[in-house]
Amino acid sequence: MTVSRKIVLHFPAQVADRPIVCDLALRFGLAFNILRASISPHREGIMVMEIIGEGANQEKGLQYLREQGVLIESLSQDIRKNDERCINCGACVGVCPTSALFIEKPSFEVRFDGTRCIACEMCIMACPTFAMEALI
Ligand code: SF4
Ligand code: SF4
Repeated sequence: MTVSRKIVLHFPAQVADRPIVCDLALRFGLAFNILRASISPHREGIMVMEIIGEGANQEKGLQYLREQGVLIESLSQDIRKNDERCINCGACVGVCPTSALFIEKPSFEVRFDGTRCIACEMCIMACPTFAMEALI
């Protein structure tokens, strides 16, 4: 399944001037949007980007970046569930690719586990009450 996720890349000085992000497309067939970047030759750099592609290819691509010395952080902490707005309809559960949203039994209330979230924002599009929020 094709999903998107937002990540933060920290480049050490020795790789900041190498076009290794382009390898995400060339080697792993991933699309990406650069949302923010601060990169200078021979200095540490930071880039916030969205990557789009099959989950398995994303994992391979990110592993490749790690092997080049890039530190990767997820932006998943920026997804929130507003329980006051949630009506437990379950629409988000069906679209969440990582089961970060799930139905708790026996209450049948919908819960959010931020540690599983990859910030793909599928739930935000699915939620009828705008209970799922991105805080970027
Ligand atoms: S909780 Fe929402 S943003 Fe996080 S992985 Fe599931 S669908 Fe994507
Ligand atoms: S789609 Fe929205 S209202 Fe429905 S269970 Fe998920 S967060 Fe709650």
